[in-house]
Amino acid sequence: MLKIYNTLSKKVENFIPIDKSHIKIYVCGPTVYDKIHIGNARPLVVFDTLVRLLKFKYPKVTYVRNITDVDDKINDRLLSEKITLDDLTSKTINDFQKDSTSLNNLGPDYEPKATEHISEMIKMIEDLILKKFAYLSKGHVLFNIKKFPDYGSLSNRTLEEMISGSRVEVADYKINPGDFVLWKPSEQNIPGWESPWGRGRPGWHIECSAMSKKYLGVQFDIHGGGADLIFPHHENEIAQSRCANNSNSLANYWMHNGYVNIDNVKMSKSLKNFVSISELLNRFKGETIRYFLLQSHYRAPLNFSNNSLLEANTSLSSLYRSVENLSVNGDPDKEILTNLEDDVNTPRVFSRLHYLSEQANKGSIEAAQLLKNSSPILGLLENTSDNWFKTNSFNEDNLSINELTRKEILELIKKRTNAKIKKNFELADKIRRSLDDQGIVLEDNADGTDWRYK
Ligand SMILES: [Zn+2]
Repeated sequence: MLKIYNTLSKKVENFIPIDKSHIKIYVCGPTVYDKIHIGNARPLVVFDTLVRLLKFKYPKVTYVRNITDVDDKINDRLLSEKITLDDLTSKTINDFQKDSTSLNNLGPDYEPKATEHISEMIKMIEDLILKKFAYLSKGHVLFNIKKFPDYGSLSNRTLEEMISGSRVEVADYKINPGDFVLWKPSEQNIPGWESPWGRGRPGWHIECSAMSKKYLGVQFDIHGGGADLIFPHHENEIAQSRCANNSNSLANYWMHNGYVNIDNVKMSKSLKNFVSISELLNRFKGETIRYFLLQSHYRAPLNFSNNSLLEANTSLSSLYRSVENLSVNGDPDKEILTNLEDDVNTPRVFSRLHYLSEQANKGSIEAAQLLKNSSPILGLLENTSDNWFKTNSFNEDNLSINELTRKEILELIKKRTNAKIKKNFELADKIRRSLDDQGIVLEDNADGTDWRYK
């Protein structure tokens, strides 16, 4: 039985699908004005892992992840860089998809763009006006939160708390300070679409309400995203969708992943303390980044450091060593499945992976095979060991990363000593790191360099 922590009830619940022959899941996708950072990558990997599990358990899964390609951050970029909307978003979407694929994500079944669903958004806004949940004021269409008694139930906030919160924009055209924009006017120099309320653009929240309805219907199983989306984005999605669709639920289970911190501060573009995925991919394999992102429980905060990626790389190498020359042949390990079904408990999955690896290293062929068989459900260890070691980023200067013989280790130490004499510290350091990555520690002393296994 799959168990999921539901943000709506604040409890771990048994997952009961609406239709067990077809599971439907929606995850909020990127706003495409810049490259994604490691904080943006976390939901991609977390929900990809969940979808892999759902696809294993159920006959059909439809996974929708949108692309927000109309947004004020995008407009700011267009004005400052003097480029067209299409130039900016097509390049950013391309980079995004490349980064996402590098992280071994399978990709959603539908990846709708907001700009291609403006008419669906206009229709939904018209419905909300007709039903008196929304009103027109100074060229804006706003949602009246006082008309929806359940408003605040996802984020567990009272109206007062929401209003005093800094994220609610106070404006003179609102009836209640917490009312949010469904449609707003666009000046001539920024993207806009004709609507019954003049040339304008949709608010961010209505995009997801309109697109989830089109691809998944008025009610679906799981809605996911980062914890920073709970309020106001998801709260507003629920309000719009339930009021427009006359339904008592948008998604039955709401799942949110924790923040990625850097030096214990939330990584974000606005704080400018982010590390982009493309930058990391110059130094690490995408699979290493995926491993790092799955190491912690998805709801817990995750602290990023270069060292954590180096450690992830070492751990993955040790797993790859245990599955050499094996290919997938059978179902995943049962204990790994059980841990995934327990609210995607990847830390426990990882300790099981390393347990199996230890058993494999002691000679258990069965453990090695179970390890390899678990690769498709995790999106890890899917490469061949040969290829993993050959293409590892620490494999520069033809340093072999395979199990080294004593002779090879001594040769590498000699190469490093020569590099140091020639003041090529970069190469010397690269050799030391590469050996370290294979579990070999170098110790410099007065007589030269000793080595030992970690
Ligand atoms: Zn969304």
